[in-house]
This record gives sequence, structure tokens and C-alpha cells, in this order.
Amino acid sequence: MTVAESLFTNAKLADGRRASVAVTGGRIAAIISLGEALPEAGETIDLAGAMLVPGFVEGHIHLDTSFYGEAWKPHIPCTNGFDVHERVAFQAHNLANAGPIETRARDQLELCIASGTTSMRSHVMVDGSVGLRHLEAVLAVRESYKGVIDIQLVAFPQNGILSSPGTAELLDQAVAMGCDLVGGLDPATYDRDIERHLEVVFGIAEKRGVDVDIHLHDGGTLGVFEIDQICAWTRKLGMAGHVAVSHAYGLGDIPPDRQQKIAATLAMSGVAIMTNAPGAQAFPPVATLRQAGVTVFSGSDNIRDSWWPYGDGDMLGRANMIGYRSGFYEDRELEAAFDIVTAAGARALRLEDYGIVPGGKADFVTFAAEHIPEAVVALPKHRSVYKAGRLTSRDGQFVRRP
Ligand SMILES: [Zn+2]
Repeated sequence: MTVAESLFTNAKLADGRRASVAVTGGRIAAIISLGEALPEAGETIDLAGAMLVPGFVEGHIHLDTSFYGEAWKPHIPCTNGFDVHERVAFQAHNLANAGPIETRARDQLELCIASGTTSMRSHVMVDGSVGLRHLEAVLAVRESYKGVIDIQLVAFPQNGILSSPGTAELLDQAVAMGCDLVGGLDPATYDRDIERHLEVVFGIAEKRGVDVDIHLHDGGTLGVFEIDQICAWTRKLGMAGHVAVSHAYGLGDIPPDRQQKIAATLAMSGVAIMTNAPGAQAFPPVATLRQAGVTVFSGSDNIRDSWWPYGDGDMLGRANMIGYRSGFYEDRELEAAFDIVTAAGARALRLEDYGIVPGGKADFVTFAAEHIPEAVVALPKHRSVYKAGRLTSRDGQFVRRP
């Protein structure tokens, strides 16, 4: 038998199997069932019956706009209900008085990693107001955390595309500089021109060969109409599996029969939906979407920023919130909530070699729990997080400074 670099013994896998996991070269070399002979190993870590599950997928965050790590910033309410334009203005004011992006991004990254995240998608503001300044800072941070966390970046037009002159060119440049995706923002209510907004976004995606992830807060039938348009663009460009709509609040505003219809369109078009189960907002019908075959994934979105004071970077906690807001009580439903922050997230982000399988990347989290449903409810605090088989965090503390 070959020699493994590390051997994690007495693990409990998500399906309840007792096994040991051998890691070599940052990958899972073998999964050895209880009772089978163990390989020799450079180091052996006895998990003493703890669960070993794939690293969490943070599918939507903003590394450049959080104030986590800084002094508390009280939330400023909108003058008349939720207004994206007004919130963007509050954000510009807050950011002008905040510390360097690099420091804030690092603080937020380590918070997420410490809870079990091993892969992430972050939107980064790219528009006429900040140019490429935020992106330059976040690219440097991404580089310095290589090997600790995998980060995809979305060029995100926070001030619209058509309403912020020069943004279309900046988005294109941002992708050339290293963004993995091109984003969008409320084509109807922000830019007031759905077709031209989507033309720019999908035009860059087609030209540069990158994926798309669009912020869509627009509610009701307007939001659903935009989702339908995004699906049409996706099919036209043959981009099934490469497009996501984040938030999609409108899906929560329409009756069940219309939800089923648009769910079928999303599934057929290969467009994923990201929800963070936001408080007091209508949000997508997670079970209906999953049943139709839509990939539903999740993220923290805003953490202590100009949009709301909440967020702790814990994707297991996010699974709990999704389950709570969706009325998930049965074990299979709690397992679905967990799937959203793990395997479904990996599918949405098109992560390669994800999961606890031979040949998979050795990105995993260990914690004590009876099984997945109990973990989603109990949110065990004592976790160990491994990236490529190496410990990055223990008990909520980041231990591997890059
Ligand atoms: Zn967002």
C-alpha cells in the first residue's frame, strides 16, 4: 500500500459512513472504510468520530465594501422603504470614511475561512465612481491568499452600466485584468433599459469567454420578466450552466403556478439562483426551484456594510437561515439546505474536483455532530478547516496567515 502524506482517521462522512481519508498532494488519495487496512502516513489526525464534510462554498460576498474589523457603523435607514439608489449613495459616503480595502477584505476573508469556507465568489465594484481601484486592491488580496482559499471575482457595476458613463469599458477591462465573471445590476430600475443593459453584460461574457452573475433586486412581475430575458440571453449564447441571478426577489412575489413556470424556464436555460434568505424580503422559493432542477446556491452577501449590519461569514449558519425561512423541518429538507452551501454551490461556481471523493481536492471541514440535519440546526462552533489537506482554521480562529 502507498504512503499518504496525511491520514484523517475515525471520520464520519455526510452519508453516515465511518471511514479514514488519506490525503496526498492536496487531494484525497483514498477513502478507507472502517475495518480496512490503513496506509502508512506522514501524519495521522484522529478525528475521534467527528464529521468530515466538503468545504463550504460562499457564493456571493462583497470583499471590498464590508466594514468588518472596523468600528461599528450604525445602519442608515432609507427615507421611504428599500431603495437601491439611496443605499448606493450611503455606501459611497461610508467607504470614503473607511480604512484601506486590503485590510477590510483580509479581515472578512479570514472570518469566512474560519467558519469553513474554502471557495468563494466575490463581487467587486467596477464603475464610473471607483474605476478599477477596488479591483486592484482585491486582486492583490486574492493573490496573497492563494492556497488558503479559492476566490472568483465578479466585475460588479454597483452604479449601473448605462447610468454610470464608462462602466461598459471598465467592466471589459476588469475581466482582462483577472475578473472571472461579469456582473449586472437591476437592468430595469437602475438603468431603465433591460435590453441594452443585458446586451453589454452578455456582450462582454461572449467576447471574453466568462460567466455571468447579475444582482437582481427588482421585485414582482418586472423582476420575473427580467429573469426570463436573462434566460433567453443564456440560451441564445449557449451559456447554460454559466449564468446566475443573485437575489431574484421577484420569484418570491408571484403565485405558485407562476413560480413553477419560471422555475422550469430557469432549469431548461441552465441559470442558477443565489439567495441569502434575506430578512423581511420576499425571496426565491428554494424547494420549488430545486424540485424543477434549478441550481440554488447561497452566500453571506453583505457583512456589516452599508446595506445591513448582519452577517458572520458562516455558511453553515446560512444553511440554517435558508432552512428556517423556507420552513424546512424534515431531515431531507435540512440536507437540502446543506447541499445549497456545499455541492450545489460548487456546481454554480463550476468548481473542479469538489467533494469528499477519491481524487477530489482535500478541502474539508470537521466538527462534532450526529449527522448533517443536526449540524444545520446545532451549528457546531468547534470546527477545523482544511485547504488542500492543510489546516487553515481551528475553533473559529484563522491559523494560517499567508
Ligand atoms: Zn450582493
